[in-house]
Amino acid sequence: MRSARVNAELPGVPRGEPEPLTPNLELPNPEPPNRELRTTHRTPNQNPEPRTELEHEPGRENREQGTADNVLVPEHGPLFAAMLHEFDGAARILNLEPGIWRILTHPKRQIVVSCPVQMDNGDIEVFTGYRVQYNITLGPAKGGIRYHPDVSLDEVTALAAWMTWKCAVAHIPFGGGKGGIVCDPTRLSKRELEALTRRYVAEIMDAIGPEKDVPAPDVNTNDQVMAWIMDTYSMHVGHTATAVVTGKPVELGGSLGRREATGRGVMIVTREAAKHLGIDIKGATIAIQGFGNVGSVSAELLAAAGARIVAVTDWKGGVYNEKGLDVAALVEHTRQHKTVAGFAGGTPLANDELWELDVDVLIPAALENQITMDNAPRIRARILTEGANGPTTPDAHDHLHKRGVFVIPDILANAGGVTVSYFEWVQDRYGYFWDLTDVNSRLEKKMCEAFDDVLQTSLRHNVDLRTAAYVVAVARVGTVTKMRGMYA
Ligand code: NAD
Repeated sequence: MRSARVNAELPGVPRGEPEPLTPNLELPNPEPPNRELRTTHRTPNQNPEPRTELEHEPGRENREQGTADNVLVPEHGPLFAAMLHEFDGAARILNLEPGIWRILTHPKRQIVVSCPVQMDNGDIEVFTGYRVQYNITLGPAKGGIRYHPDVSLDEVTALAAWMTWKCAVAHIPFGGGKGGIVCDPTRLSKRELEALTRRYVAEIMDAIGPEKDVPAPDVNTNDQVMAWIMDTYSMHVGHTATAVVTGKPVELGGSLGRREATGRGVMIVTREAAKHLGIDIKGATIAIQGFGNVGSVSAELLAAAGARIVAVTDWKGGVYNEKGLDVAALVEHTRQHKTVAGFAGGTPLANDELWELDVDVLIPAALENQITMDNAPRIRARILTEGANGPTTPDAHDHLHKRGVFVIPDILANAGGVTVSYFEWVQDRYGYFWDLTDVNSRLEKKMCEAFDDVLQTSLRHNVDLRTAAYVVAVARVGTVTKMRGMYA
């Protein structure tokens, strides 16, 4: 099978986008429901062995979950175990009651499909696709679809859970979902990619929809793939249904401002953090890893707010200018050369030198697991804004927090993207489209509120912002779960 063949040849998956009872919930039990879980790493691609210690005794799973003896709770992999670790920290603070704890730690639905595709050479290949709806208590599942040889059910389930917490932190009426197809899109022709996309949509057709589950782009999928999904779904339901996906081209019901939304959110939370810490954003110095969508837009908007972007690195190298880089010129240079390296408006900077710069703000906006105990002790920044998903390992995060670095966690810092995806879904359903000023002012309000909710929670419980973000998220989903009650 093609997907199996390429699997061995390609490196690990970059994490995509990866969302709780309000602290006032009266819930008595601070212990997790009979689960002993210790996890130290959040992203497992480099750590194939689960770092989770689950005690296994014959039949124990059944007793733990209170299920009938013939019902087995599915095993989970290292990435999902890492999500559970983060969840548990918040659930303990909330004294989450065991029943709610169990509900929120189980995916609602995991779909596995086989997608036969006739290739350009006439052969038929079969690709495995997944869609996980982790939780839909607050609204339709929301989350991207990725195409990559390393896609697995564990990864998709964990990413769907993180989307649940991210949407809840952003306080938007979505649950969390994620999907993926095990394939190498760089080896597929455009026709094969379209056929695969359409067959995958046909296979999960009953599970998605504007009221059910709303996919979006993720690793190796883009607005064209979203347009094919929208068209396939529309052909099946017999009318144009733009609200079934977000991240569409603007001509097909996409939203103005979506492309810039994640970087705009990064700018807003960084500015709010600086205000909280008494740092003037005008003249504040900033270093950024990654100059793609998130990194470049964050740089442009922070420079526009008066900050000095002194250093940027990407996959090929970096550039430094203590007086501040000309961001517009750097964007143009990157458009032409596909890298910031070689930019004439500064001196070369090695990727590893970025971490030790004496700057006010550091923004990892490239890949996961970039800040580890190898470089965290050298970090001198006051604020670390996680533009990327999972850029900081848990031990590095704890080290930085102890040293007083203000870490704005990914599920808050990069939630601007999913927030404008929510705006896109609203506009599609409303059939009325907002101008850019409307989109940006609504995003500004949502991000400021989310930042303040997390900050106040962290101050109230005397915990780091990551734990606080989970407390906010788990509280919101848990409260609504309790209010809705148990069906049947
Ligand atoms: P992108 O592909 O547009 O840009 C990635 C950047 O990272 C590029 O500049 C690339 O050169 C750089 N990079 C790659 N490998 C590197 C390396 N080894 N060292 C240094 N730099 C390296 O991706 P993006 O959309 O900007 O996403 C960046 C991160 O933000 C990812 O973690 C993504 O999951 C997360 N994120 C993105 C969005 C969004 O709306 N785009 C939303 C939420 C989270």
